Amino acid sequence: MAICDSRMFLNYYRNAPDGRIVFGKSLGHFAFAGQVANYYEGPSHRAGEVEESFRNLYPMLDGMDIESSWTGPIDRSVDGLPFFGYLDNHPDILFGIGFSGQGVGPTVLGGKILASLALDQKDHWSNCGLVREGVDNFPVEPFRYVGSVLVREALRRKEGLEDRSRRTDPLTLAIANLAPVGYVPSKRD
Ligand SMILES: Cc1cc2nc3c(=O)[nH]c(=O)nc-3n(C[C@H](O)[C@H](O)[C@H](O)COP(=O)(O)OP(=O)(O)OC[C@H]3O[C@@H](n4cnc5c(N)ncnc54)[C@H](O)[C@@H]3O)c2cc1C
Repeated sequence: MAICDSRMFLNYYRNAPDGRIVFGKSLGHFAFAGQVANYYEGPSHRAGEVEESFRNLYPMLDGMDIESSWTGPIDRSVDGLPFFGYLDNHPDILFGIGFSGQGVGPTVLGGKILASLALDQKDHWSNCGLVREGVDNFPVEPFRYVGSVLVREALRRKEGLEDRSRRTDPLTLAIANLAPVGYVPSKRD
């Protein structure tokens, strides 16, 4: 069984067939200028924070060891939704990107969209709203990096306060609300 909560820094976890728990958390390290280095593969550099969330959720498993940790890169679009199309000047190359860390289900949909586009079929996959041009870009560097960190820290603070049933101050809320909502637009107050 897979479980996830509705936070932006969501906790997600599932049981493995051998009785262990696979536990994840979106904590992300931003790549300056989109340079994805080795830092994004292998053991997590934030394993301690992930473990802390796990221990908070499962205090009854306090004596249990953590066997290993792992991390991987994800991309993000400005609105949190993927987009599909033909590469500029290369109409024979299709792309589907911007899954924004939510790709397990949507990449199945993405496969159908790409297949219809590749076969030049005019159907509800190739006509779907995710096939779009003129998608907004994030600001140029260094504003992108600095802005990403600011928004992430505001979100982290907001969700930390919510965990303790405390109200978020207006400044933190205003910055946190700049984060893309993706598939689940929510009332943000
Ligand atoms: C750390 C992390 C956390 C994530 N958390 C979530 C989440 O909570 N929820 C969610 O919905 N999504 C999440 N995602 C995103 C999700 O995992 C991906 O969007 C999704 O798996 C993409 O599916 P895919 O089939 O397109 O690609 P993949 O799952 O990457 O599959 C591609 C496959 O092709 C194989 N392959 C690659 N090149 C070759 C080759 N040349 N020859 C043969 N095989 C090849 C690879 O080995 C791989 O098995 C997360 C991603 C990461 C990295």
